[in-house]
Amino acid sequence: MLVHQILKSKSTDGVFTIKPGTSVADAATVLSNNRIGSVIISATGKTADGILSERDIVRELGKRGPACMSDKVDDMMTKNLVTCSCDDRADDILKKMTEGRFRHMPVIKDGEMVGLITIGDVVKARLTELSMEKEALEGMIMGH
Ligand code: AMP
Repeated sequence: MLVHQILKSKSTDGVFTIKPGTSVADAATVLSNNRIGSVIISATGKTADGILSERDIVRELGKRGPACMSDKVDDMMTKNLVTCSCDDRADDILKKMTEGRFRHMPVIKDGEMVGLITIGDVVKARLTELSMEKEALEGMIMGH
């Protein structure tokens, strides 16, 4: 299964973005209102300049307390993003996410972000694929 097939199977293909300079408190509101675990920081809405995950916020809250909520996201976000392309394989994405210990990956096409896939999207797609393979093999064995 390829990334573009996973994107197609998602109910929403838009990516939640916020602008650099946004406060961490406002970013947390975006996460909470939209029931998402991370948000992309993008100056144009098309590029992925950084990512801020609920984990980043919890880590700083634990270290510095609520004062960190008035910081700008720019200081807390991860800037070195690992991204993928539409033609990447689900297995390779899963490997990168597992090894890098992160659960979100922006999909980039021609320099622009066209989607975001989560580890949950990849696992769901793989389970569907494995179940279809199982049914096909059973059909072959049973002669259907
Ligand atoms: P997550 O598991 O995705 O909520 O994020 C765990 C940590 O990895 C956080 O510090 C994120 O900022 C960071 N992170 C999330 N996605 C990526 C990515 N695609 N590339 C690099 N770092 C990431």
